[in-house]
Amino acid sequence: VAKGRGRGVFSHFEPGMDEAAAARRELEMDMRTGLSEGQFELHYQPLVDVRSRRTVAYEALVRWRHPTRGMVMPDLFIPLAEDTGLVVPLGDWVIRRACQELARWPGHLRIAVNLSPAQLRSAGLISTVMQAIAENGIAPDRLELEITENVLLKDNAVHAALLHKLRGLGVRVALDDFGTGYSSLNYLRAFPFDKIKIDRCFLKGLGESDETLPIVRAVIALAHAMGMTTTAEGVENEHQMRVLLAEGCDQAQGYLFSRALPAADFPELRRQSPVDASKKTA
Ligand code: C2E
Ligand code: MG
Ligand code: MG
Ligand code: MG
Repeated sequence: VAKGRGRGVFSHFEPGMDEAAAARRELEMDMRTGLSEGQFELHYQPLVDVRSRRTVAYEALVRWRHPTRGMVMPDLFIPLAEDTGLVVPLGDWVIRRACQELARWPGHLRIAVNLSPAQLRSAGLISTVMQAIAENGIAPDRLELEITENVLLKDNAVHAALLHKLRGLGVRVALDDFGTGYSSLNYLRAFPFDKIKIDRCFLKGLGESDETLPIVRAVIALAHAMGMTTTAEGVENEHQMRVLLAEGCDQAQGYLFSRALPAADFPELRRQSPVDASKKTA
Protein backbone atom coordinates (compact mmCIF):
# COMPACT_ATOMS: atom_id res chain seq x y z
CA VAL A 1 0.00 0.00 0.00
CA ALA A 2 2.67 2.44 1.09
CA LYS A 3 4.85 1.79 -1.93
CA GLY A 4 4.34 4.30 -4.67
CA ARG A 5 3.02 6.85 -2.23
CA GLY A 6 6.58 7.79 -1.51
CA ARG A 7 8.03 8.41 1.88
CA GLY A 8 4.99 8.96 3.98
CA VAL A 9 3.64 8.44 7.44
CA PHE A 10 2.47 4.96 6.67
CA SER A 11 5.43 3.78 4.65
CA HIS A 12 6.46 1.54 7.56
CA PHE A 13 5.48 -1.31 5.24
CA GLU A 14 8.60 -0.59 3.22
CA PRO A 15 11.58 -2.83 3.85
CA GLY A 16 14.45 -0.37 4.34
CA MET A 17 15.36 0.27 7.97
CA ASP A 18 16.34 3.86 7.29
CA GLU A 19 13.09 4.55 5.55
CA ALA A 20 11.11 2.90 8.31
CA ALA A 21 12.94 4.97 10.90
CA ALA A 22 12.41 8.12 8.87
CA ALA A 23 8.72 7.35 8.46
CA ARG A 24 8.47 6.83 12.18
CA ARG A 25 10.11 10.14 12.96
CA GLU A 26 7.87 11.83 10.43
CA LEU A 27 4.79 10.30 12.01
CA GLU A 28 5.97 11.34 15.42
CA MET A 29 6.41 14.96 14.35
CA ASP A 30 3.14 14.88 12.45
CA MET A 31 1.34 13.55 15.50
CA ARG A 32 2.87 16.15 17.80
CA THR A 33 1.65 18.85 15.45
CA GLY A 34 -1.71 17.11 15.17
CA LEU A 35 -2.09 16.98 18.94
CA SER A 36 -1.20 20.63 19.46
CA GLU A 37 -3.33 21.77 16.54
CA GLY A 38 -6.41 19.76 17.46
CA GLN A 39 -6.43 17.42 14.46
CA PHE A 40 -7.68 14.46 16.48
CA GLU A 41 -11.34 13.91 17.09
CA LEU A 42 -13.61 11.34 18.64
CA HIS A 43 -16.38 9.53 16.88
CA TYR A 44 -18.93 7.52 18.79
CA GLN A 45 -20.53 4.14 18.19
CA PRO A 46 -23.64 3.15 20.15
CA LEU A 47 -23.88 0.07 22.36
CA VAL A 48 -27.49 -1.05 22.53
CA ASP A 49 -29.33 -3.15 25.09
CA VAL A 50 -30.14 -6.40 23.27
CA ARG A 51 -33.68 -6.70 24.63
CA SER A 52 -34.93 -3.12 24.40
CA ARG A 53 -32.57 -1.99 21.63
CA ARG A 54 -32.11 1.25 23.47
CA THR A 55 -28.67 2.85 23.38
CA VAL A 56 -27.01 2.50 26.76
CA ALA A 57 -23.50 3.69 25.94
CA TYR A 58 -21.24 5.00 23.20
CA GLU A 59 -17.69 3.85 22.51
CA ALA A 60 -15.30 6.70 21.73
CA LEU A 61 -13.14 5.87 18.71
CA VAL A 62 -10.34 8.24 17.78
CA ARG A 63 -9.83 9.62 14.26
CA TRP A 64 -7.11 11.85 12.87
CA ARG A 65 -8.27 14.58 10.56
CA HIS A 66 -4.94 14.95 8.82
CA PRO A 67 -4.46 18.15 6.81
CA THR A 68 -3.24 16.34 3.68
CA ARG A 69 -4.19 12.66 4.19
CA GLY A 70 -7.80 13.19 5.13
CA MET A 71 -9.51 11.15 7.82
CA VAL A 72 -7.06 8.56 9.15
CA MET A 73 -8.36 5.54 11.07
CA PRO A 74 -6.80 4.39 14.34
CA ASP A 75 -5.50 1.05 13.08
CA LEU A 76 -3.08 3.08 10.93
CA PHE A 77 -1.59 5.30 13.62
CA ILE A 78 -2.24 3.73 17.05
CA PRO A 79 0.38 0.96 16.60
CA LEU A 80 3.09 3.44 15.59
CA ALA A 81 1.99 5.91 18.24
CA GLU A 82 2.43 3.04 20.65
CA ASP A 83 6.09 2.64 19.61
CA THR A 84 6.91 6.33 19.88
CA GLY A 85 5.15 6.74 23.22
CA LEU A 86 2.91 9.45 21.77
CA VAL A 87 -0.06 7.23 22.38
CA VAL A 88 0.16 8.30 26.02
CA PRO A 89 -0.53 12.02 25.49
CA LEU A 90 -3.02 11.07 22.77
CA GLY A 91 -4.76 8.62 25.08
CA ASP A 92 -4.84 11.18 27.88
CA TRP A 93 -6.47 13.63 25.49
CA VAL A 94 -9.02 10.94 24.53
CA ILE A 95 -9.92 10.37 28.20
CA ARG A 96 -10.30 14.09 28.91
CA ARG A 97 -12.24 14.77 25.71
CA ALA A 98 -14.55 11.80 26.27
CA CYS A 99 -15.34 12.95 29.82
CA GLN A 100 -16.05 16.52 28.66
CA GLU A 101 -18.41 15.07 26.09
CA LEU A 102 -20.09 12.72 28.56
CA ALA A 103 -20.76 15.59 30.95
CA ARG A 104 -23.35 17.02 28.58
CA TRP A 105 -25.00 13.73 27.61
CA PRO A 106 -28.20 12.40 29.20
CA GLY A 107 -27.38 10.85 32.58
CA HIS A 108 -28.34 7.28 31.72
CA LEU A 109 -25.64 7.02 29.06
CA ARG A 110 -22.15 5.66 29.62
CA ILE A 111 -19.02 6.25 27.59
CA ALA A 112 -16.40 3.63 26.72
CA VAL A 113 -12.78 4.58 26.10
CA ASN A 114 -10.00 2.34 24.77
CA LEU A 115 -6.74 2.18 26.68
CA SER A 116 -3.42 1.39 25.04
CA PRO A 117 -0.67 -0.78 26.57
CA ALA A 118 1.63 2.25 26.95
CA GLN A 119 -1.07 4.06 28.91
CA LEU A 120 -1.34 1.13 31.28
CA ARG A 121 2.42 1.30 31.84
CA SER A 122 2.45 5.07 32.28
CA ALA A 123 2.53 6.48 35.80
CA GLY A 124 -0.08 9.14 35.13
CA LEU A 125 -3.09 7.04 34.16
CA ILE A 126 -4.84 7.00 37.53
CA SER A 127 -4.49 10.74 38.04
CA THR A 128 -5.57 11.49 34.46
CA VAL A 129 -8.73 9.45 35.00
CA MET A 130 -9.39 10.96 38.44
CA GLN A 131 -8.93 14.48 37.12
CA ALA A 132 -11.11 13.96 34.05
CA ILE A 133 -13.90 12.61 36.24
CA ALA A 134 -13.60 15.34 38.87
CA GLU A 135 -13.25 18.28 36.47
CA ASN A 136 -16.33 17.25 34.55
CA GLY A 137 -18.41 16.21 37.54
CA ILE A 138 -19.06 12.75 36.17
CA ALA A 139 -20.33 9.75 38.10
CA PRO A 140 -17.32 7.39 37.79
CA ASP A 141 -19.42 4.37 36.85
CA ARG A 142 -20.44 6.15 33.64
CA LEU A 143 -16.88 5.73 32.38
CA GLU A 144 -15.90 2.34 31.03
CA LEU A 145 -12.28 1.62 30.12
CA GLU A 146 -11.64 -1.03 27.46
CA ILE A 147 -8.47 -3.08 27.53
CA THR A 148 -7.59 -5.75 24.98
CA GLU A 149 -6.41 -9.00 26.44
CA ASN A 150 -3.08 -9.07 24.55
CA VAL A 151 -2.07 -6.00 26.48
CA LEU A 152 -2.23 -7.81 29.77
CA LEU A 153 0.26 -10.54 28.95
CA LYS A 154 3.19 -9.02 30.81
CA ASP A 155 3.49 -7.63 34.33
CA ASN A 156 0.44 -9.46 35.56
CA ALA A 157 0.69 -8.26 39.13
CA VAL A 158 1.24 -4.65 38.14
CA HIS A 159 -1.71 -4.68 35.76
CA ALA A 160 -3.95 -6.41 38.25
CA ALA A 161 -3.13 -3.76 40.86
CA LEU A 162 -3.83 -1.02 38.31
CA LEU A 163 -7.20 -2.46 37.35
CA HIS A 164 -8.11 -2.77 41.03
CA LYS A 165 -7.15 0.88 41.51
CA LEU A 166 -9.28 1.98 38.57
CA ARG A 167 -12.22 0.02 39.88
CA GLY A 168 -11.53 1.55 43.28
CA LEU A 169 -12.30 4.91 41.67
CA GLY A 170 -15.67 3.49 40.65
CA VAL A 171 -14.72 3.28 36.98
CA ARG A 172 -15.78 0.19 35.02
CA VAL A 173 -13.29 -2.01 33.19
CA ALA A 174 -14.07 -4.10 30.10
CA LEU A 175 -12.02 -6.82 28.42
CA ASP A 176 -12.02 -5.86 24.73
CA ASP A 177 -11.76 -8.20 21.72
CA PHE A 178 -12.24 -11.24 23.92
CA GLY A 179 -11.14 -14.52 22.38
CA THR A 180 -8.50 -13.18 20.01
CA GLY A 181 -5.52 -13.22 22.39
CA TYR A 182 -3.87 -15.80 24.61
CA SER A 183 -4.71 -17.20 28.02
CA SER A 184 -8.15 -15.66 28.03
CA LEU A 185 -9.44 -17.79 30.86
CA ASN A 186 -6.44 -16.98 33.00
CA TYR A 187 -7.14 -13.29 32.56
CA LEU A 188 -10.64 -13.68 33.83
CA ARG A 189 -9.29 -15.18 37.01
CA ALA A 190 -6.45 -12.68 37.45
CA PHE A 191 -8.13 -9.41 36.52
CA PRO A 192 -11.30 -7.80 37.84
CA PHE A 193 -13.42 -7.04 34.77
CA ASP A 194 -16.98 -5.75 34.77
CA LYS A 195 -17.61 -6.76 31.18
CA ILE A 196 -16.44 -8.98 28.36
CA LYS A 197 -16.64 -7.70 24.78
CA ILE A 198 -16.92 -10.70 22.47
CA ASP A 199 -14.75 -10.04 19.43
CA ARG A 200 -16.51 -9.62 16.14
CA CYS A 201 -14.77 -12.66 14.64
CA PHE A 202 -17.14 -14.81 16.76
CA LEU A 203 -20.16 -12.98 15.37
CA LYS A 204 -19.42 -13.94 11.79
CA GLY A 205 -22.05 -16.36 10.56
CA LEU A 206 -23.85 -16.39 13.90
CA GLY A 207 -27.46 -17.30 13.27
CA GLU A 208 -26.64 -18.65 9.82
CA SER A 209 -24.12 -21.40 10.43
CA ASP A 210 -23.65 -23.05 13.81
CA GLU A 211 -19.86 -22.94 14.07
CA THR A 212 -19.53 -20.04 16.47
CA LEU A 213 -22.73 -20.54 18.43
CA PRO A 214 -21.21 -22.83 21.09
CA ILE A 215 -18.41 -20.34 21.70
CA VAL A 216 -20.69 -17.33 22.01
CA ARG A 217 -23.03 -19.31 24.26
CA ALA A 218 -20.18 -20.43 26.51
CA VAL A 219 -18.63 -16.97 26.78
CA ILE A 220 -21.94 -15.42 27.78
CA ALA A 221 -22.55 -18.15 30.37
CA LEU A 222 -19.02 -17.83 31.71
CA ALA A 223 -19.26 -14.04 31.98
CA HIS A 224 -22.58 -14.20 33.78
CA ALA A 225 -21.39 -16.94 36.13
CA MET A 226 -18.50 -14.65 37.09
CA GLY A 227 -20.72 -11.62 37.58
CA MET A 228 -19.73 -9.85 34.36
CA THR A 229 -21.88 -8.48 31.56
CA THR A 230 -21.33 -9.11 27.85
CA THR A 231 -21.24 -6.96 24.72
CA ALA A 232 -21.14 -8.53 21.27
CA GLU A 233 -19.01 -6.55 18.81
CA GLY A 234 -19.50 -6.37 15.07
CA VAL A 235 -23.23 -7.06 14.98
CA GLU A 236 -24.28 -6.49 11.40
CA ASN A 237 -27.59 -8.32 10.93
CA GLU A 238 -30.81 -9.52 12.51
CA HIS A 239 -29.75 -13.18 12.43
CA GLN A 240 -27.04 -12.34 14.92
CA MET A 241 -29.44 -10.32 17.06
CA ARG A 242 -31.89 -13.20 17.24
CA VAL A 243 -29.18 -15.50 18.60
CA LEU A 244 -27.82 -12.88 20.99
CA LEU A 245 -31.29 -12.34 22.41
CA ALA A 246 -31.88 -16.07 22.80
CA GLU A 247 -28.48 -16.55 24.45
CA GLY A 248 -28.95 -13.68 26.90
CA CYS A 249 -26.17 -11.41 25.65
CA ASP A 250 -26.56 -8.03 27.34
CA GLN A 251 -25.43 -5.52 24.73
CA ALA A 252 -24.71 -5.35 21.01
CA GLN A 253 -22.56 -2.98 19.00
CA GLY A 254 -22.11 -2.89 15.26
CA TYR A 255 -23.05 -1.55 11.87
CA LEU A 256 -26.61 -2.93 12.23
CA PHE A 257 -27.19 -0.04 14.61
CA SER A 258 -24.62 2.53 13.55
CA ARG A 259 -21.06 3.12 12.54
CA ALA A 260 -18.99 5.45 14.67
CA LEU A 261 -20.08 9.02 13.95
CA PRO A 262 -19.49 12.50 15.36
CA ALA A 263 -21.61 13.14 18.47
CA ALA A 264 -23.56 15.81 16.61
CA ASP A 265 -24.96 13.10 14.31
CA PHE A 266 -26.84 11.45 17.19
CA PRO A 267 -29.99 13.43 18.05
CA GLU A 268 -29.96 12.34 21.70
CA LEU A 269 -26.43 13.74 22.09
CA ARG A 270 -27.21 17.06 20.48
CA ARG A 271 -28.84 18.78 23.40
CA GLN A 272 -26.28 21.27 24.64
CA SER A 273 -26.85 24.98 24.39
CA PRO A 274 -24.68 27.06 22.02
CA VAL A 275 -22.95 28.46 25.13
CA ASP A 276 -21.94 24.97 26.24
CA ALA A 277 -20.80 24.10 22.75
CA SER A 278 -18.41 27.03 22.52
CA LYS A 279 -17.15 26.39 26.05
CA LYS A 280 -16.34 22.77 25.37
CA THR A 281 -14.62 22.86 22.01
CA ALA A 282 -11.15 23.51 23.47
P1 C2E B 1 -12.11 -1.77 19.00
O1 C2E B 1 -11.97 -1.10 20.32
O2 C2E B 1 -12.37 -3.24 19.01
O3 C2E B 1 -13.27 -0.96 18.26
C1 C2E B 1 -14.18 -1.55 17.39
C2 C2E B 1 -13.77 -1.37 15.96
O4 C2E B 1 -14.64 -2.18 15.16
C3 C2E B 1 -13.95 0.07 15.45
O5 C2E B 1 -13.00 0.32 14.42
C4 C2E B 1 -15.34 0.01 14.85
O6 C2E B 1 -15.59 1.00 13.89
C5 C2E B 1 -15.32 -1.38 14.23
N1 C2E B 1 -16.69 -1.90 14.08
C6 C2E B 1 -17.76 -1.58 14.81
N2 C2E B 1 -18.86 -2.23 14.41
C7 C2E B 1 -18.48 -3.00 13.37
C8 C2E B 1 -19.19 -3.92 12.51
O7 C2E B 1 -20.39 -4.16 12.65
N3 C2E B 1 -18.47 -4.54 11.55
C9 C2E B 1 -17.15 -4.30 11.38
N4 C2E B 1 -16.52 -4.94 10.39
N5 C2E B 1 -16.45 -3.43 12.17
C10 C2E B 1 -17.11 -2.80 13.16
P2 C2E B 1 -12.05 1.58 14.49
O8 C2E B 1 -12.81 2.79 14.90
O9 C2E B 1 -11.30 1.62 13.20
O10 C2E B 1 -11.06 1.24 15.67
C11 C2E B 1 -10.16 0.18 15.53
C12 C2E B 1 -9.39 -0.03 16.82
O11 C2E B 1 -8.55 1.08 17.12
C13 C2E B 1 -10.29 -0.18 18.04
O12 C2E B 1 -10.81 -1.48 18.10
C14 C2E B 1 -9.31 0.13 19.16
O13 C2E B 1 -8.55 -1.01 19.49
C15 C2E B 1 -8.39 1.15 18.51
N6 C2E B 1 -8.75 2.49 18.99
C16 C2E B 1 -9.73 3.30 18.57
N7 C2E B 1 -9.75 4.45 19.28
C17 C2E B 1 -8.77 4.35 20.19
C18 C2E B 1 -8.29 5.20 21.24
O14 C2E B 1 -8.80 6.30 21.51
N8 C2E B 1 -7.23 4.74 21.97
C19 C2E B 1 -6.65 3.53 21.73
N9 C2E B 1 -5.63 3.14 22.49
N10 C2E B 1 -7.08 2.70 20.78
C20 C2E B 1 -8.13 3.10 20.01
MG1 MG C 1 -12.88 -1.03 22.07
MG1 MG D 1 -13.32 -4.13 20.48
MG1 MG E 1 -12.63 -6.14 18.15
